[in-house]
Amino acid sequence: MEFDLVVIGAGPGGYTAAIKATQLGMKTAIVEKGKNLGGTCLNVSCIPSKALLYSSELFHEAQHGFKSHGIKAEGVTMDVAAMMKRKDGVVRKMARGIDYLMNKNGIEHVSGFGRIVNAGEVEVTGGEAARTLKTKRILIATGSSVSGLPFLEFDGETVLSSDHAIALGQVPESMIVIGGGAIGLELGSVWARLGTKVTVVEFLPRIAAIFDEDITHALQKLLQKQGLKFHLGTGVESAEKTKTGIKLKATKGDKSMELEAEKVLVAVGRKPNTDGLDATEAGVELDERGRIRTDAEWQTNVPGIYAIGDVIAGPMLAHKAEQEAVAAVERMAGKAGRVNYDTIPWVIYTAPEVAAVGLTEAEAKEKGHEVSVGAFPFQANGRAVAGAHADGLAMVIADKATDRVLGAQILSANASELIAEAVLLMEFDGSAEDLARTIHAHPTMSEGLREAAHMAMGEPLHI
Ligand code: FAD
Ligand code: NAD
Repeated sequence: MEFDLVVIGAGPGGYTAAIKATQLGMKTAIVEKGKNLGGTCLNVSCIPSKALLYSSELFHEAQHGFKSHGIKAEGVTMDVAAMMKRKDGVVRKMARGIDYLMNKNGIEHVSGFGRIVNAGEVEVTGGEAARTLKTKRILIATGSSVSGLPFLEFDGETVLSSDHAIALGQVPESMIVIGGGAIGLELGSVWARLGTKVTVVEFLPRIAAIFDEDITHALQKLLQKQGLKFHLGTGVESAEKTKTGIKLKATKGDKSMELEAEKVLVAVGRKPNTDGLDATEAGVELDERGRIRTDAEWQTNVPGIYAIGDVIAGPMLAHKAEQEAVAAVERMAGKAGRVNYDTIPWVIYTAPEVAAVGLTEAEAKEKGHEVSVGAFPFQANGRAVAGAHADGLAMVIADKATDRVLGAQILSANASELIAEAVLLMEFDGSAEDLARTIHAHPTMSEGLREAAHMAMGEPLHI
């Protein structure tokens, strides 16, 4: 029997591709080496981290936020084991959902490690029995895994990756987080809220550098209020284990410093998963960073072998992998699949959340746009003040000449949801005026984004 498509890797890229392919009439198999379907995203990243962020935020609110509402919650304690059990339950529930979708769509799940023999064959080992799958096409969706630092070997006890930091059995007394990006800020927040003294060491002069400078400065101040400490522009150079944890030597400019903690979380990025896949042996080209090189239809240089998600270039985000999955399979079926890389939203799920789409003000200027920017503080938004989450701001960046929205940045509670409106607006090439004239329910946080659009037009209403 020959498949129309064999997908290697069952993360959000791989399983979405398999569903789309069967919907378009392709006989499809999905090969996954892990115990559960769902990939990194469901098993050890997007979903478990969000479960912990939610639990820890509730705990933090009970300790620090309830009082202003008149709620007395003295002596609130955290049962870490129960929090982890809930997180594992969330993952199990969602994994069952993916099993259901595979069955419903008649997708063959082949358990084991996939290796490309050639453009028409995938060998699967390590499952129940070794098998070679014959196929018309192969889609590589093997994702990414943690990258470390040469002098800090992960041991799961003192030197942690995100995989370990989402599964600790108790609250560490102190933690150094190397890397002030998405993982460092999210998992640093989780443990800081539960009582760990968290120090973030970031190489660049600011945290979360993909976001607008005003937004990240405001975010840093708010995280500092929550107890996180930051050493920016600082590089860690060496490490030494101590009786109680770890001692790191770092430098900031010409100053050197020593930092000590019970644990260190290394969150300095991720690398594409190609080990053992034998893609290069099958003739597939990699780029200079070891990612699989693809063309505009997500096909590699070897006809019939495609790749999507974290294993190729672009932001390492689940929704990017998913969108590429649909478009790549549509292209295989002769349809006009497409991904608009200019409108991929980014979110970091701190409290408040930070979310963005499109260009920052600085990027827009670098690209030669004369811009008009509206920045509306949530302190002037009724819903935000009523809900006691008025920290943050919404920004709209528009082209001055055409009024077309080039980007939006939001720092607020639920920014992850609010950004969707700006994404849709940009997808339709909308203007600041389109956003400003769109009716928003009152009182809502979404009015904050509309107000930012009014400001970008030079016609502020509520400020
Ligand atoms: P993956 O999810 O990595 O899945 C690849 C799958 O392929 C894995 O199951 C792996 O076991 C399997 N595999 C690999 N090689 C083989 C092989 N040879 N044979 C068989 N199977 C194989 N992104 C977001 O958009 N939102 C978030 O909130 C978010 N939070 C994150 C939090 C953390 C802590 C981390 C680490 C990442 C987070 N990400 C988030 C990024 C997100 O996890 C990835 O972008 C996403 O998982 C990529 O999807 P993918 O399908 O390309 O690969
Ligand atoms: P990242 O690229 O977001 O951040 C890594 C940070 O580490 C950067 O700020 C970088 O300057 C810094 N850094 C690198 N080397 C360093 C060093 N030696 N010393 C100090 N700082 C150093 O990477 P991440 O946080 O590891 O996350 C990996 C990927 O997972 C990201 O691409 C991200 O897209 C994805 N992710 C997404 C989410 C989300 O969507 N909410 C959450 C977590 C992870």
